[in-house]
Amino acid sequence: MATIETVTGAIDEGDLGRTLGHEHFRTRSEMVVAQWPHLYDEDAQRERALEDARAVMEHGVKSVCVPDAMLLGRDAAFLKEISEETGLQLVVATGIYTYEELPQYFVNRDVDHMADCFAHDIEEGIQVTDIKAGFLKCAADAQGVGENVEKVHRACARASKQTGAPIMAHSHPPTQTGLRQLEIFDEEGVDPAKIQIAHTGDTEDLEYVGKLLDGGVFIGMDRYGLGNVFPPDTEGRNKVVLELLDRGHADRMTLSQDFCSTIDWFPEDHPMRELVAEWSMTLVFEKVIPALLESGATEGQVATMLDENPRRWLTA
Ligand SMILES: [Zn+2]
Repeated sequence: MATIETVTGAIDEGDLGRTLGHEHFRTRSEMVVAQWPHLYDEDAQRERALEDARAVMEHGVKSVCVPDAMLLGRDAAFLKEISEETGLQLVVATGIYTYEELPQYFVNRDVDHMADCFAHDIEEGIQVTDIKAGFLKCAADAQGVGENVEKVHRACARASKQTGAPIMAHSHPPTQTGLRQLEIFDEEGVDPAKIQIAHTGDTEDLEYVGKLLDGGVFIGMDRYGLGNVFPPDTEGRNKVVLELLDRGHADRMTLSQDFCSTIDWFPEDHPMRELVAEWSMTLVFEKVIPALLESGATEGQVATMLDENPRRWLTA
């Protein structure tokens, strides 16, 4: 039996249980945190993270994949605290979350050095702890796959080849970045079964989604509740999921919300906060799954997406 690294140590894959594939317990601009820590209420942020961890456990969730990375404020010790206090198992990532720019440190060093940094987190531990990363994270968005973004993808691919860890790639379906992302992984020789193209639920273009599935990857239907910012809305997202279930793809989708217990990207009174009023870490259980079941999805298909696919991807 394969093992999976969580922030509290390795577990047997059979103990992963019901899993949300993509959530964040604290998202912060780490450069701002480092320079002006007085801006942050650590206790309040911790409390919100604990509340969400307990809320998902009430729905039978045993584990959450946390694709935190550089530039998302990843903090392995913080996640360990949340896990230890609640018993929720957290699988954290290593990697870099950028749509375009890299710090000079990485601009002037090669892709293999970056891959070594990622491999260090997987094999030795993150941020001078013994907390090991369970997967790799990279991102491409509306800016396309430029030089720096390509470098991060190749570094993830090489670290994956070296360590066996799977990869989650944030994508931008409106510009079909997933296809180029897959092409890079393929050039680097990564097994597509180890790849999850995140945010594929942000489109109703079944031809595009079909091309990704033909490539043999997992797809993240993982932004429920964000429909006002990234269409389609929950109903539109469910229509796509139901169609893919009909086509026999239950074994390729993960369900999640990409929720952030707290996020510092917008001030509290920013209009964006109202647009995401429905967004939560439990929306999938409160609204999405009931609607899918009512429209003909089976309990078995839901179980495949929540109980099987995250484990299959993490241990591919
Ligand atoms: Zn995310």
